[in-house]
Amino acid sequence: MPPPAPFPFTALVGQDEVKDALILAAVNPRVQGVLLIGPKGTGKTTAVRGLADLLPEITHSLCPNGCEPNWALQDPERLCPDCRDKLNRGEPISYIARQALVELPLNATLDDVVGGANVRLSLEQQHLRFDPGILAHAHQNILYIDEINLVAQEVLDAILDAAATGYCVVRRGRLAASYPSRFVLIGSMNPEEGFLRPQIIDRIGLRVVVGALTDPQERLTIARHVHAFGDDPEAFAAQYAGLTVAAAASIAAARAALPAVRISPAAEEAAIRLITRLGIESNRTEIVLFEAARAYAAIDERTEATVEDVRAVAPLVVRRRRSLGTDAFWAATREEESLIQAELAALQPRAPRARRPAKRGPALVDPSLDGSGRT
Ligand SMILES: [Zn+2]
Repeated sequence: MPPPAPFPFTALVGQDEVKDALILAAVNPRVQGVLLIGPKGTGKTTAVRGLADLLPEITHSLCPNGCEPNWALQDPERLCPDCRDKLNRGEPISYIARQALVELPLNATLDDVVGGANVRLSLEQQHLRFDPGILAHAHQNILYIDEINLVAQEVLDAILDAAATGYCVVRRGRLAASYPSRFVLIGSMNPEEGFLRPQIIDRIGLRVVVGALTDPQERLTIARHVHAFGDDPEAFAAQYAGLTVAAAASIAAARAALPAVRISPAAEEAAIRLITRLGIESNRTEIVLFEAARAYAAIDERTEATVEDVRAVAPLVVRRRRSLGTDAFWAATREEESLIQAELAALQPRAPRARRPAKRGPALVDPSLDGSGRT
């Protein structure tokens, strides 16, 4: 039995920021993923699952060693021996399919995620072979983690490392192997169930705080939609089929146009000024803001991202960038520093320069505190 049809993305009511963020991530993987933060029942998972119908068709590699399909034409020397053999036999090394939405099960273990060593095959071939994990399936696709704040730390670290490097590394004792794992990460979380560490939030590009809709008319429309969808999902989705096809075509066109989209110097300057004035430290902020602005312009069928594009996407990028912990750290550091300076100034009359011992070295520095570990 095929999986049930998802609730159509184009039938979602309100939540424009959620829709914008998901579409930007589908158009430009360099926006580094989406984090949806909000209580249960605000449609986060429904929106993400609906995105699956809008994803474009792409060429997927069949090679477990990470050969890219375009190498066959552009750079055949880079192909691994397996792929060369396949091409010589006239077999395909790639296939075309719609980008998929891969969901991480909540209780996934590290082995499930990175893949486990296949001991029999490894011994036979004298080379570490592994059974692919979820990160292998996520390659070139979208990885969705619901309740990302409840995922085990070692599992989340492995996922974020792969998201950052494009590779997943499997280690077993002294042996290590790697496979390509480039994916768009989408996470959702309910802040009532605990928060993510700030350094993890910083690694996800776009953030949306999802609240319940307050407009009575919108709530009524949602209730009617949910009822109609529950009655007959296929018939409900069919009503939105035209809109869905158009939205998918628009995303595919924006992806194709994206490489030619530049960001104007004025837009770059405005972005940097905004980030500096907000006191945000992470350099990821401007990198993501430029990429999101380019994607926004591409969706609008323009080849230059302007200040208006920066303005449109900036809230998604800059919110929740400042870590309250870091702010408190710097405030405490500044306070301590001014106290130290004040006390040093107060010391001066009692310790005039001329009376300082001449040849005892920097007596103010305790040698055990110089950070070198030597005492
Ligand atoms: Zn290969």
